[in-house]
Amino acid sequence: MDLKSLIRDIPDFPKPGIMFRDITTLLQNAEGLNYVIDRLAEEHADQGINYVVGMESRGFIFGTPLAYKLGAGFVPVRKPGKLPAPVHGIDYELEYGTDRLELHQDAFQPGSKVLIVDDLIATGGTAAATAKLINQCDCTLSGFAFIIELTALNGRQHLPDVPINALVQY
Ligand code: 5GP
Repeated sequence: MDLKSLIRDIPDFPKPGIMFRDITTLLQNAEGLNYVIDRLAEEHADQGINYVVGMESRGFIFGTPLAYKLGAGFVPVRKPGKLPAPVHGIDYELEYGTDRLELHQDAFQPGSKVLIVDDLIATGGTAAATAKLINQCDCTLSGFAFIIELTALNGRQHLPDVPINALVQY
């Protein structure tokens, strides 16, 4: 399937000079949505994944159906102050300033295998911070799954040495 034909390019969003890869056009296409979830499920089947972790907010959209397909649970990683129970948190660097992600402390059964999912990897900052959050828990990171990888930014270099899947590269 030609995924790039289903991903809409929006120039100068959210800031001038940025080419935003809009996945809403992929989501609204029934065959496209089916295809990306099935492909990621194939890549990560038989790895004994217990939980899929998705980052707010587009990671929720792809992570939950993928968890369902893998027979795994889904765990949200959220922006600060959104999760109601005690959390682990991590601050990470953005281009300008810092941001923070949080995860419920009791999200995983000890010894679980975890897959991190997001729509897109750019600098890798979000995914690397999520991996560090998972390190604070007693579980194993099995890999990363993305729909889109922006290769020029080489976000992979910031990620730990586990399998990294991306379905389409720009
Ligand atoms: P990174 O932390 O790798 O620099 O940025 C990745 C995060 O920013 C992801 O959570 C992703 O949803 C969001 N993001 C950055 N650029 C884009 C884009 O062009 N399209 C979409 N859909 N998300 C983006």
